[in-house]
Amino acid sequence: MALINLRDLTILELENFFVKDILEKKYRAKQVFEWINFKGAKSFSQMTDLPLSLRSRLDEVSCLGYTNIFKIVEDNNDGTKKFLIKLSDDNIIECVLMRYNHGNSLCISTQVGCAMGCKFCASTLHGHVRNLTPGELVEQILLVQDNVNERVNNITLMGIGEPLNNFDNLLKFMEIINSKHGIGMSHRRITLSTCGLVDELYRLADEKLQITVAVSLHAPNDEIRRKIMPVAKANCMEKLLKACRYYVKTTGRRITFEYSLMQGINDDIEYADILADKLRNMICHVNLINVNPTPFSDIVPVSIKRLKSFANRLNIKGINTTVRRTLGLEILAACGQLRENYIKNSW
Ligand code: SAH
Repeated sequence: MALINLRDLTILELENFFVKDILEKKYRAKQVFEWINFKGAKSFSQMTDLPLSLRSRLDEVSCLGYTNIFKIVEDNNDGTKKFLIKLSDDNIIECVLMRYNHGNSLCISTQVGCAMGCKFCASTLHGHVRNLTPGELVEQILLVQDNVNERVNNITLMGIGEPLNNFDNLLKFMEIINSKHGIGMSHRRITLSTCGLVDELYRLADEKLQITVAVSLHAPNDEIRRKIMPVAKANCMEKLLKACRYYVKTTGRRITFEYSLMQGINDDIEYADILADKLRNMICHVNLINVNPTPFSDIVPVSIKRLKSFANRLNIKGINTTVRRTLGLEILAACGQLRENYIKNSW
């Protein structure tokens, strides 16, 4: 039987483990949690304030999942750093550190591969392999902080995978990093990006977390959306936008819509008008981005002029819109591109 990985446990679960499973004192949980999630211990032997007997007991009955940085690629133009991370079962994931004036933002993966099948996204090419555990989600932050010797200030769940398809692990992850005995990251510093799973959005809203949700819309209507995002077949825009309104109402948080412009697919200026009508009276924000071209698809970006006019049109129609800078182009920073390169070329 596989040993329990203590990295995957919230502080309450660790307390249960110590008190009920191995009949130890409750306060040991807090000590171990701090060693794992704050002091960055890689083994029980490093936990020097635990008795030796307890350390060896923990080694027998549990484990500390082990992941490591496998490769780092840096974009010399903007300082963006992409990390390929090897998991204990040799699967590879990636995360990207972006440096902004307002702090360091880390984009992390939530799954190995992705089942969603968006036509423009490299993460989905080899399908879904497995979900990341809470500990593997946290470790991406710990490994990167350790590597660059800087704090990560914001987290975006925008790497490989669909976060809402890994719901329970994600909730635990957010609880772990929020703890004052760990990284202590406020939920307001977390952005979760989803391709728009309606049922899960309702579930998330009811959790009433103060995170920012970004919904990948990429289209003004179902017809276009279904062509590029298979998820749109079971989750039509009407239902999706209704769920988004519910999210805003329940949490009081503004919602972000992501819209990647793709030439000849979703970039007609009149689509901005249709979109503006649908988003009217919702507390929201549109993030426009030019699609990152990928070798596996013939989807191409639009001109800067088109990008600006699309944004202007939305703004004129009263929809708050910003054009997002594309960082890390040189290093294949868009979703799943580096992992795909790794799988193809077997570095
Ligand atoms: N599954 C989630 C989160 C991962 S993708 C989601 O779909 O939102 C993070 C964001 O990157 C999404 O908005 C996604 O649509 C976008 N994206 C993926 N590949 C891209 C590409 N080649 N160019 C531009 N944006 C891309």
